[in-house]
Amino acid sequence: MTEDSSFQATGHNLIDWLSDYFNNVENYSVCSKLNPGDIEKKLPARAPDRGEPYKEILDDFNKIIMPGITHWQHPGFHAYFPSNTSEPSVLAEILTAGLGVQGMKWITSPSATELEKVVIKWLQQMIGLPDNFKGVIMDTASVSTLCAILAAREKISSYRINTNGFENNILRIYCSTEAHSSIEKAVRIAGIGSNNLVKIDVDENLAMVPENLLKAIQDDKKNGFLPTCVIGALGTTGTGAVDPLSEIAEICNNHQLWFHIDAAYSGTALILPEFQRTVQGYGRADSFVFNPHKWMFTNFDCSAFFVRDAGLLTKTFSLIPSYLQTDQDTELDFSNWGIQLGRRFRSLKLWFVIRHFGLEELQRKIREHINLGKIFENLVYNDKRFELVAPRHLNIICFRLKGTDSKLYNHNTKSLLTKINQSGEIFLSHMELNGEFVIRFVCGQTKVNEKHIHKAWDIISSCASEIESAD
Ligand SMILES: *Cc1c(COP(=O)(O)O)cnc(C)c1O
Repeated sequence: MTEDSSFQATGHNLIDWLSDYFNNVENYSVCSKLNPGDIEKKLPARAPDRGEPYKEILDDFNKIIMPGITHWQHPGFHAYFPSNTSEPSVLAEILTAGLGVQGMKWITSPSATELEKVVIKWLQQMIGLPDNFKGVIMDTASVSTLCAILAAREKISSYRINTNGFENNILRIYCSTEAHSSIEKAVRIAGIGSNNLVKIDVDENLAMVPENLLKAIQDDKKNGFLPTCVIGALGTTGTGAVDPLSEIAEICNNHQLWFHIDAAYSGTALILPEFQRTVQGYGRADSFVFNPHKWMFTNFDCSAFFVRDAGLLTKTFSLIPSYLQTDQDTELDFSNWGIQLGRRFRSLKLWFVIRHFGLEELQRKIREHINLGKIFENLVYNDKRFELVAPRHLNIICFRLKGTDSKLYNHNTKSLLTKINQSGEIFLSHMELNGEFVIRFVCGQTKVNEKHIHKAWDIISSCASEIESAD
């Protein structure tokens, strides 16, 4: 076969393969049953000298690679947060890979830049961010948050740290004790240092206590520090708690701090007007990030990053060597908005996803997922063996086995989770809450429906019975 015909035939087969996979993904064990090293052992230690036919590569893909896959698209995947894909997203990624376009500047592919501008504006309207924001697509929330902290650092230092490095480091960043680890990582990378990340206590809903934030800022000022940026959570990773964003915005405004909002997962729910109404104040942020690659059916990676004053980003990041200088203004070239020079053409998959589903279907799916969360919460609530340990936010439910002896119920909850995940039918993860071991259940997978929730509950319930009878 010529290269062309084998590419075509294999390509068609791969679409058939994926289509079958999406239809049958439930028949796989959600988690791989292999041990560390099992896959590596089966792969040659050296690269092949001669090219091999697609058929042989695909045979090995099925034999060696597939057994080591964790099936994130399995409707029994309830761990971490979902990392959803969907058919339109896959189709767009094929085109993106084939075009091999590098969207660093307008001239390197006008469509990549202009489609990104349009689609990110659609997203902005969908989630109800005010008109004066401007957006850009990043790879991850980690990097978006790093960019926000760097922009805040440069703004407060009048762009001196970019040129001189730190002369003396007195900057302070604030987030709650429940904030995501990516924030501390960003603070380290930005040269500010973990010790200058002030973690503010949370209330019984696991949301930041604004009075404590204010006090920390005032104390820091008295002690010669320079309060720089607050990161508020619109949906923590643990329980989905939402910080009091209006109060934080007010404090940031009064003390001239940058206010960044991390809405990595829950931000997708803002496409629902009813959720927008329950969350006040996010429009008052200086920057905001959420990940369509989590809950919006757009395959990894795709993170939507918005800033109120895009000029502050380009001032922080534009560094244009002469061979890349063009007549367009710097704001038009997205490589000036962040860390990378080269940029993937990510807007294409968002465009496919939003057009294919339409806003109404996207809203319907998110509402359905939240409703499934309520159904699951009720199942836990009505079983006397279990305890809900945090208020349910959206479709995130945290629970553990009940008991009076904390050592015993922590131990049993841990054994329960191991047993549940060994079933291969569903996959749940855990977290630590007030020092206790807690099981975390999220139901936002693209194809999850009520049947899967009841099935998951049957498994959890019968595993709990086994734990009880072993006691
Ligand atoms: C998932 C998550 C992140 C990290 O997202 P990446 O895109 O993987 O960097 C950050 N913050 C919160 C609240 C998250 O849930």
